[in-house]
Amino acid sequence: MGGDTLNEDKRIDMTRAILVTGGAGYVGSHTVAYLLENMGNDLEIVVVDNLINSYRSKPGQKKPESLRIIEDMTGKTIHFYNCDIRDVQAMHRVFQNHLIECVIHFAALKAVGESVTKPLEYYQANVSGTCTLFEVMRDHGVHKLVYSSSCTVYGEPQRLPLDETHPTGAGLTNPYGRSKYFCEEIMKDLCASDKKWSVISLRYFNPVGAHPSGRIGEDPRGTPNNLMPYIAQVAVGRLEELQVFGSDYPTVDGTGVRDYVHVQDLAEGHAGALACFNKTEFTGFHAINLGTGTGYSVLQMVAAFEAASGKRVPWRVAARRAGDVAVNYADASLAARTLGWRARRTLADMCADTWRWQSTHPHGYAT
Ligand code: NAD
Ligand code: UDP
Repeated sequence: MGGDTLNEDKRIDMTRAILVTGGAGYVGSHTVAYLLENMGNDLEIVVVDNLINSYRSKPGQKKPESLRIIEDMTGKTIHFYNCDIRDVQAMHRVFQNHLIECVIHFAALKAVGESVTKPLEYYQANVSGTCTLFEVMRDHGVHKLVYSSSCTVYGEPQRLPLDETHPTGAGLTNPYGRSKYFCEEIMKDLCASDKKWSVISLRYFNPVGAHPSGRIGEDPRGTPNNLMPYIAQVAVGRLEELQVFGSDYPTVDGTGVRDYVHVQDLAEGHAGALACFNKTEFTGFHAINLGTGTGYSVLQMVAAFEAASGKRVPWRVAARRAGDVAVNYADASLAARTLGWRARRTLADMCADTWRWQSTHPHGYAT
């Protein structure tokens, strides 16, 4: 397929669009909400999501619940396609139906433990799916991409804070992490092959929190793997107690330290990345950390959540979790210099916003 899949007359009448893959999920839905709340009517949002990890409430309802609520909150329409990024024909149709200018690519499988038992599924969805998306983008002359990467690509930190020059790819302990690393390498090759590509790979540290309205938030399927949703479900009475994975790390209180970043700050980071596509220096591949630069231990997180929620979060120490690093936090100065982005929200904000969502939606979107 060539770039001219629509005749020029039809293109002139079309509104410019941003394609958001995985836009019904946790980080994607908050970014979609932020963009709709902050951008003009001359831009539309198109979401592709196969709903493998997002909630569709009533039978017959076409849009996932997260997007339905965002439309209600903003009074704006989201163009939604229930399809898999690996479905080439369906993806071509999306690009034919909209004047897509750039893509924010969230769609991926993300459960670290599951990736160890189902490596092929993870490489299929995360690596093969990403290649399919890039082929369709190229065929339609779209070369601007914001990619959801992760601090996991750094592996075991050789130095702290982690800045973008820290080596990537060494010592990764699971297929999920490797899939993020492989995609970054593929994007570097793509940018080297054709100067038209502009790729900003945002390496998130630990996304937490929810929209301040409490109407959208993180809704993990089954028992949460991540700390913040686990704590929130203990506080709301869905789970009995938190297991603290290891208390003998060389940290302030022996528990693991991470750089938690509010999902609303992440959403702003994506908007900052989109704004950079107008600058010539942003051609090629750019990896940028999105974190706060400050780490908190597991027990500091528990204390902050108890303070924000007024609930007790019982915990007990369990064995270390395989593959965990002791400490991880970002050097976030490149994002400040290049995107003009800085995380603005505090740990208290992260906990208060998570609690507003969790306490009003004890069973997530199914509540
Ligand atoms: P999520 O699971 O909530 O959202 C991902 C969305 O993509 C889901 O709605 C899912 O249904 C969809 N999806 C998955 N595979 C698809 C496919 N083949 N075709 C179409 N849609 C598909 O996850 P999230 O936490 O919002 O993460 C978004 C992105 O950020 C992912 O790429 C993830 O790897 C990355 N990331 C997340 C974290 C985190 O802790 N949440 C940290 C670093 C990086
Ligand atoms: N953690 C924990 N109990 C849990 C989940 C996580 O003690 O039920 C710890 C984990 O060992 C790590 C921190 O909380 O030190 C953050 O874990 P998470 O899975 O949220 O993020 P990641 O390890 O991927 O950075």
